[in-house]
Amino acid sequence: MDKKTEQYDVVIIGGGAAGLTAGIYCGRARLKTLIIEKALVGGLATYTNEIENFPGFPEGSTGLGLMELFHKQAKKFGVTFKLTDVKAVNFDNDVKVVETFRVNYEAKAVIIATGGKPRITKAKNEENYLFDKGISFCATCDAAANTDKMVIVIGSGDAAIEEGMFLTRFAKKVYVSVIHDEGIMDCNEIAKEQAMSNPKMEFLWNTVVDSFEGEGHLDTVVLRNLKTKEQQPVKVDTCFEFIGYEPNTDIFKGIVDLSEKGYVIVNELMETNVSGVFSAGDTNEKFLKQVATAVGDGAIAGVMAEKYLAENEVFYHQILNAEKPGVVFVYDATCELCRELLPIVEEMAARSNGAFRLTKVDVYKSKGIARRLGVAGTPVLVFVKDGKVDRVIDKNITRDTILNELS
Ligand SMILES: Cc1cc2nc3c(=O)[nH]c(=O)nc-3n(C[C@H](O)[C@H](O)[C@H](O)COP(=O)(O)OP(=O)(O)OC[C@H]3O[C@@H](n4cnc5c(N)ncnc54)[C@H](O)[C@@H]3O)c2cc1C
Repeated sequence: MDKKTEQYDVVIIGGGAAGLTAGIYCGRARLKTLIIEKALVGGLATYTNEIENFPGFPEGSTGLGLMELFHKQAKKFGVTFKLTDVKAVNFDNDVKVVETFRVNYEAKAVIIATGGKPRITKAKNEENYLFDKGISFCATCDAAANTDKMVIVIGSGDAAIEEGMFLTRFAKKVYVSVIHDEGIMDCNEIAKEQAMSNPKMEFLWNTVVDSFEGEGHLDTVVLRNLKTKEQQPVKVDTCFEFIGYEPNTDIFKGIVDLSEKGYVIVNELMETNVSGVFSAGDTNEKFLKQVATAVGDGAIAGVMAEKYLAENEVFYHQILNAEKPGVVFVYDATCELCRELLPIVEEMAARSNGAFRLTKVDVYKSKGIARRLGVAGTPVLVFVKDGKVDRVIDKNITRDTILNELS
């Protein structure tokens, strides 16, 4: 049976903080916008009881409460939601296809906001204590709640040791379970030296987690010594696992550029290597994974998707419109020569009595159309005929060049 097809301006994959923010911006720009979420709208933040560091909420908020507000705001701007899993994508053509079990969604632009998940130890009973029941993956989020408490950090990479040291500012004691022999850690040397001389940190070498125990809430992490095979129960209030993070990017492998660790590679405009495909939030290769940064990424991706669609409109319906010859003046508003030449180009267009259609493209605002025309640098004159680029003048443009070429 053929799948149903639906068309949208923008399809956003993932309804966490990044996707919802992108949705708010696209919806508010009156784009026909769809957010596809496979689990819970609100994403990873809904798993945390207390979000204290999202600006605007001095008393803090539950993750669920905060995300419900994001959801409400996106719906207010007309965003459509579908609760289903995106199975595959096809970004080969201008119209992108986002496949779910029953429907193929066609979109002019796509925003990837699929986030990720912390890697877990897979030790016994772990599932019972994840997130709010004693196993945390975020020191920035949960350190304050562990003031004067006993905590354990699992892992010895940069994140584990740096977050562990951060936790010593709050917790009474920070145990660190390290899989390696004494003195061997996966973090950088400076972090290692600092951590090993920190009196609040105690290293438990050659250990892995055997099981997690506690009535309702975690109270003991049972470690196993890999050398002696002995079990070592450690009483703690919270266990912080820093053994890696896995971005949800399997469906994009080989389709958009990913880093070695599987994160989407974007520029500061949240553009991926595929034109019309943007990516925002924890799924991106980035320094800080928080709601506040996901929101920033989502806002940029939403605005860029809108800009991309507007530029598409100009590119296909104005510049390549075959009704009459076109001239595109590609300039940069910050370049003095461009500013000198711009009024001359405008005057020549006015004098031509409609013989050609002039489009002015300011690359200072956006490089999208220049990129579509295949030109770099400024000033550039592009001549379009019969819906195709006919000629490009991109060197030594002077007043005389314009008078000669446009008369
Ligand atoms: C326990 C915990 C506590 C935290 N506490 C804080 C805190 O106090 N403050 C703070 O700022 N940050 C906190 N964070 C970090 C914060 O939750 C994330 O940075 C934020 O959620 C990232 O948002 P996102 O939209 O990029 O990704 P996510 O929130 O992960 O959202 C991605 C969404 O995409 C969906 N998805 C994935 N694949 C598909 C698919 N194929 N089809 C459809 N949908 C898909 C997922 O189901 C998910 O809902 C915490 C994280 C954790 C784990």
